[in-house]
This record gives sequence, structure tokens and C-alpha cells, in this order.
Amino acid sequence: ATPAATMVGTTIGAQNGVLFKGGDVLERAKDVDTVVFDKTGTLTKGKMSLTDVVAFGDDASALADGGERTDGSRASSDARSDGGAVATHERAATDEDELLRLAAAAESGSEHPLARAIVDGAEERGIDVPDATGFENVPGHGVRATVEGDEVLVGNRKLLRDNDIDPSPATETMERLETEGKTAMLVGRKRGSERSENRGAGGGTSRAGELLGVVADADTVKESAKEAVAALRERGTEVMMLTGDNERTARAVAESVGIDPENVRAEVLPADKSDAVEAIQRDGSRAMMVGDGVNDAPALAVAYVGCAIGSGTDVAIEAADVTLMRDDPLDVVKAVRVSEGTLQKIK
Ligand code: ADP
Ligand code: MG
Repeated sequence: ATPAATMVGTTIGAQNGVLFKGGDVLERAKDVDTVVFDKTGTLTKGKMSLTDVVAFGDDASALADGGERTDGSRASSDARSDGGAVATHERAATDEDELLRLAAAAESGSEHPLARAIVDGAEERGIDVPDATGFENVPGHGVRATVEGDEVLVGNRKLLRDNDIDPSPATETMERLETEGKTAMLVGRKRGSERSENRGAGGGTSRAGELLGVVADADTVKESAKEAVAALRERGTEVMMLTGDNERTARAVAESVGIDPENVRAEVLPADKSDAVEAIQRDGSRAMMVGDGVNDAPALAVAYVGCAIGSGTDVAIEAADVTLMRDDPLDVVKAVRVSEGTLQKIK
């Protein structure tokens, strides 16, 4: 394009809250044939709220585990001198408030939107949340912390499994909540506070764990998300979604915005998001990755066009080729149209 055309495009972009990092990006955006949206904070508002608390509350769900992992391998700290499993059929939390109290305590050290919603939800219910120590974040899986002498875990199935707690009794509850598009999290507990000295490389211990229940958070889809997806598809663009969230929740959200289930890439760990974009581009596709989080920066960097949206983090903005000033998915369509020269200057 001529310098003059670049000037015009840059100006029209800026008038629409679409900032291009240079003329070559402005040129490239029109050649995008695939748009990959991050889910949380991009297609959804990223403001979670607590929606469900399901306490299992009887010993049918208090699972003993002798250290045998679901994958058949032995837990790393089997050879404990004090006999391993202590709590086999402890009574689990008997009510919702107790479950939420423990979950909120464990999550109080986390900045994750899922965690904030749990802590806020507990406070709204007037629950006195105890302090936790030894907080540990397990990226893409959940958290664990010591609460009142016990280790409390909040997270996905893998987190619980890795800690020798069988999540399968919660399957029905989890699937029901996920089908509603909610992010359901398991809450588990291991009695006793001696976890740190017994934790092996795999992170698990051989003490008995109990499954206490499930909590769920829901996010709201942005008003214009569906329209943006429709406009892109109308243009012939493949629209995909990438998320760390589980498959079922991801598909429910995808369906509500008009993204095909086969175009959903779910349960992608933060560190694997850029690989996922590279995989999408392997067949020669030119992808625009749209994201807002710290997690998304590497994926934005490898995409043909990286696009940071809204109140995105500085890291995301830095890694991006295009920054959308507003929090509006329709501005993704505008970015493409500015590049195509089909968006007119505001007079
Ligand atoms: P997203 O891509 O939606 O930002 P993440 O990669 O941060 O998701 O997390 C993936 C999954 O890991 C979540 O859906 C949740 O099941 C679990 N998880 C992550 N952080 C937490 C947390 N603080 N508490 C409970 N679960 C969590
Ligand atoms: Mg995210």
C-alpha cells in the first residue's frame, strides 16, 4: 500500500478504536482466514460469579485412597513410615456453607477470576472465611492450600486425580453444570498438614483424600459476541475458540455464540496455547488470535495477526499486532474491514 493508504487505514482504525502496530499489520489483517477467540475475557465478560455449591455430605463420597493412581502408577510417596492413609471414611462436609468456607479459604490466595468469584460468593453469603497457609497455584488446574490443618484442593479433575482423589463420584454433577456452560470445580480435602514433607515429584501424597463437593462459577457471554462470529463467518472466515476450560463448558459457550463444536480447542494449558495456534496454522491457515490475558501473549505472538482486546493486560498488548481499545468482539470485524479498505472514514 502507498504511505497515503496506510495513513488513511491507520486513521480509520484509530477512529474505531482499532490500533495497528504499523503498516504491514494493516496489510496482513485482510488476509486472515481464521479467527481464534480466547474464551474467557474475550468472548465472555470474564466476570465470573458463583452459581452453585453442591456438598456431597456423606461418607459415600469420602473416598479412601491407598496411593494407587488412576493411571495405575504408584504415588510417589507410598513408602510413608506412619502408615499412609489416615482418613478412610471421614465424614465429608455436611453442608454447602462448610464446603464454600473451605473452598474460599483455599482460593483466597488466588487472583484467578474463578477464585475471586468463589471468595466473593462466600462473603456475600456471610461466611467467615478462615486463613489459609501454604497456598499453591497449579496453573490450568486449580489451587491447594492448608486450611485449619488440612490440605484443601479446588480445581479440575486432573488436579484431584494427581492428588489421589477420585473425581468420578462427582461426574453427574460436573456434567450437569458444564452442560449449562458453567465452570465446575471439585473440592477435595486431605486430612493433616504434613503434606509438604511428603510431596513427591508428582505432587501427590498417599494420604487418604475425600471429595467434599463441587462449586461452579458462570461467566456471561458479551452482548456482541454472537454478531461478531456471524459477521466473520459471513465473510468466509473460519471461527474457532481456544480455552483452558473443559470441553463440555467450552462447547456450551461456543454453541451460544455460533461457533461449531469441532472448532473448539478446550483444556489447553496456558503454556500450550501458542502450540495450539501453531497447529491451527500448520495447514497454511492465516490465523488472527484474539485474547486478553497474560496467558494469551505467546499465542498472540505466533499468530499471523495477534489481537489484544479491551482491558487486556499490558503483556497481551505488547505481544499483539493489533489492539482493540474497547471490549467489543465486533471490533475484530472492524479490524479486518479497515485492512480491506471497506470501512469508511468517519466524517
Ligand atoms: P482459561 O483459559 O479459561 O483462562 P485456565 O487455563 O486459567 O482457564 O484454567 C483452566 C481450568 O483450570 C479452569 O477451567 C479450572 O477448571 C481450573 N482452574 C484454574 N485456576 C483455578 C482456580 N484458581 N481455582 C479452581 N480451578 C482453577
Ligand atoms: Mg484466560
